[in-house]
Amino acid sequence: RSKDMGGDAYQFYTAEMNAKALQHLILDNALHHALERGELQLYYQPQLDLVTGQVCGMEALLRWQHPELGMISPAEFIPLAEKTGLIVPIGEWVLRTACAQNQAWQLPGRPALPIAVNLSGRQFAQHNLAQTITRILAQTGLAPDLLELEITESTLIQDIQTSISMLHELNALGIAISIDDFGTGYSSLSYLKRFPINAIKIDQSFVRDIHTDPNDAAIVSAIIAMARSLGMKTIAEGVETNEQLVFLQSRQCDLMQGYYFSRPVPAEVITQMLNEDWCLSFVVNS
Ligand code: C2E
Ligand code: MG
Ligand code: MG
Ligand code: MG
Repeated sequence: RSKDMGGDAYQFYTAEMNAKALQHLILDNALHHALERGELQLYYQPQLDLVTGQVCGMEALLRWQHPELGMISPAEFIPLAEKTGLIVPIGEWVLRTACAQNQAWQLPGRPALPIAVNLSGRQFAQHNLAQTITRILAQTGLAPDLLELEITESTLIQDIQTSISMLHELNALGIAISIDDFGTGYSSLSYLKRFPINAIKIDQSFVRDIHTDPNDAAIVSAIIAMARSLGMKTIAEGVETNEQLVFLQSRQCDLMQGYYFSRPVPAEVITQMLNEDWCLSFVVNS
């Protein structure tokens, strides 16, 4: 019987599927406990001003240090947390931790810098999101203009009308909003001017070959020009080389983030950067 049905292949397939489902189940269960056990941690990546070379903000990036599996990438567990809904409590923890950390960084004599926090689609769809953020700001004492939210282009275009009213609600709190991974979501440009958005983050897939691929160079130049005409700032993601940096400066991109200056690092390293007033020295050629 099993021969006729290609039994071995079938069995193999099922076993593989079970293994995958089991792995999911184990991960999901582990993720449930990760919060309580303190296995989640935030790293921070500095954002630099492309005119002055100074650190002008940071992005909080989630890390999961699993006791047996080691460091698990957010690209791996956030989609799972989205599916199960766990992203909502996890996202609240991220917001609270990032706001508390940024409040701790506020010291006399240090510039007040905003912290950017990534929001998942599921969080953005929560009707009480603005109340949650208001409560977290009150609990941590952080001023609203020192918090920025990053929402991906693909999340924003799920439901344009709902997105626009949620963005207005968030704007009313005094926090800034950036579109993350811009250029990957195929949104119509006509939507863009309807979103009350402060900044556009140019996806690293366009930045990577900026210096060798004329198409990418053209796209990035166009995004920067368009953002400027709409009164939005631009942030280039994934800047790894001096060539990329020089190109972005020449197009008057406002900010950059990337390994060229710093990978995402634990809070203590940022504290040191702030204390020692780290900056990138470059020749300003425009
Ligand atoms: P993202 O928000 O677009 O973050 C940028 C990603 O690019 C980060 O990956 C960062 O470490 C990485 N990166 C920064 N500079 C460079 C560079 O020069 N070269 C390269 N190759 N990569 C660079 P990470 O930390 O693995 O995060 C991946 C994604 O996971 C994030 O993309 C974001 O969508 C999501 N994520 C991270 N933390 C959170 C969170 O707290 N909540 C939610 N909802 N999503 C998060
Ligand atoms: Mg981001
Ligand atoms: Mg991004
Ligand atoms: Mg991304």
